[in-house]
Formats: sequence, C-alpha cells, structure tokens
Amino acid sequence: MSAIIIDGAAMARQVLDEQKIRAAQLAQQGRVPGLAVVLVGDDPASAVYVRSKTRACREAGVQSFDTRLPAATAEAELLQRIDALNADPRVHGILVQLPLPPHINAVTVLQRIAAAKDVDGFTWRSLGALLDGHAGLAPCTPSGSMLMLERAGVPIAGRHAVVIGRSSIVGKPAALMLLERNATVTICHSRTVDLPAVTRQADILVCAIGKPRMVTADMVKPGAAVIDVGINRLPDGKLCGDVDFEPVRARAGWITPVPGGVGPMTIAMLIANVITATERAPLC
Ligand code: NAD
Repeated sequence: MSAIIIDGAAMARQVLDEQKIRAAQLAQQGRVPGLAVVLVGDDPASAVYVRSKTRACREAGVQSFDTRLPAATAEAELLQRIDALNADPRVHGILVQLPLPPHINAVTVLQRIAAAKDVDGFTWRSLGALLDGHAGLAPCTPSGSMLMLERAGVPIAGRHAVVIGRSSIVGKPAALMLLERNATVTICHSRTVDLPAVTRQADILVCAIGKPRMVTADMVKPGAAVIDVGINRLPDGKLCGDVDFEPVRARAGWITPVPGGVGPMTIAMLIANVITATERAPLC
C-alpha cells in the first residue's frame, strides 16, 4: 500500500481562493479585513513566518499592518501597542509572533489580545469556547489539520484518533476538535508508556512532537491517516516532520508531507480566521 499524500500546499491555495471571495464581499461593503502582525526582535525563522503571513494576506485581499519592535522592547510598551491595536477599527485580527524575547511574559501578552481579534485562537476565551464546543476563532494549526482530514475524505466519527503532543496550541486543541467530530481520542506525550502500542491503535494519528522522524512505520496501523505537524530543521538545513515519511507512507492510508503539508494550511486558516473576525466585527 502507498498512502494518499494530502497536498497541503494545493489545499491551502484552494482555501485562500475561498477567502479571497469572502474578503471581496466584505470589501464591497467597505469592510476591508485587516490583520496586525507584531514581531518583536530579529529571530530569522519568525521573520520568515511573518513574511509568509503577509504574502498570504496580500493574495487574499486582507490588509496587513506590521509592527516591528526591537528585541529590547519592554513588556509594558508591547502591551500598550496591543491595546492600541485592540482599539483600532481597521484591525480585525492581531497576531503576536512567537517566540517573544525572554524578558517578556508571552502568556500576559497573548491574553491581552481582545478575544474578538484573537485570530491565533490562543486566548483562554477562545480555548474555552473550543472546549465547550462553540465555533470561535480556533487555533490555526489544528483547524488546518482537521480540514485536511475532512477534504481528503478521511472518516473521523467513531474512529480512534491518537494525538502525540499536548501543547495548548496544537496537541490539546487538535484532540478537542477530533472529539467534537466524534472520534474516540487518546492524547500521548513524553511520559506515555509504550507509545508504539498506543499509536498502533490509531485510525488517525496526529504527530505534534518536534522530534525529527520519531514516528516510524512500526508505530503506524496499516491504512491509518497520519497528520505530521512537526517542523524540524536537520543539520543540513533541510526541513523534516516528526514522521519518517517514506516508510510510513508505504504503510499508511493517507499522509501529509513536510514541507507542503500542515504548514501552508496553518497560514490559510489564519486568513480564514481574520475574515471570520471581520464578518463578526460590529459595523462602525
Ligand atoms: P511543544 O514542544 O509545545 O510540545 C511537544 C509535545 O510533544 C509535548 O506535549 C511533549 O509531551 C510531546 N513529546 C515530546 N517528546 C515526546 C516523546 N518522546 N514521546 C511522546 N511525546 C513527546 O511543541 P508544539 O508547539 O506543540 O509543536 C510541536 C511541533 O509542531 C514542533 O515541531 C513545531 O515546530 C510544530 N508546529 C508546526 C506548526 C505548523 O504550522 N505546521 C505550528 C505549530 C507547531
């Protein structure tokens, strides 16, 4: 068996085209969707992510407002900037690029973003809405992973989904979204005993670990859908996922590649969240 490769890059283009239509409809009503991206410091990987997000905004007809601040910016100054963006009617979504410099408390900063503009879905209000089964502004990486499963036609209801990773931005929300779609869900993490015995039961296996090629073919049930969220840089500079792609591909039913899988979908879902936030924003 060779798995169907779920092409995240192609699917993301399709999602962005759909967002372009929604954005154009809003623009006709004089409501141009706007995303503010806040970047503190000069982390090169963050700068790359911000550029891709700005490019996606342009493609979809979303206005982007970039705030670039030096690494030495005080937390109080950053919080003031967020307050100003919260109050700016042209801005419908606010994204603070992580990681922040060590002297800034990321939790304090992220929780300052108004829930209505929380297009990353990281505020406690957004995560609480997800826990309670309400469609809010959901975290983009897990919602992109869910859309990949849905559009690839992977059955979810009643299936056993195993999520490796329990972060608040990927693993836990992914598990909640799978549960919402009626999967039976197991969450694994660094303290799970006999991980392969658990993952071999998975009809859907979501890998959000951050360890290059850790998920090997013997850990995968034949025919499973494998979603590889991991983005790892190898010593030669190339990117790879958490899944040992070629051997797992030979065993799985569906698989997402890295690069070109969940990564582009994450950006497309961010743009979708900006447009949803614009649609929901009160008319001024
Ligand atoms: P994290 O470090 O916050 O969480 C990693 C999780 O993996 C933890 O819950 C930990 O318990 C678990 N883990 C670590 N070692 C393990 C082991 N040996 N066995 C089982 N579980 C183990 O990371 P994160 O923010 O959730 O991100 C995970 C990966 O996804 C990273 O590679 C990150 O770069 C990537 N990521 C990709 C996107 C995207 O757009 N594709 C977005 C966010 C994160």
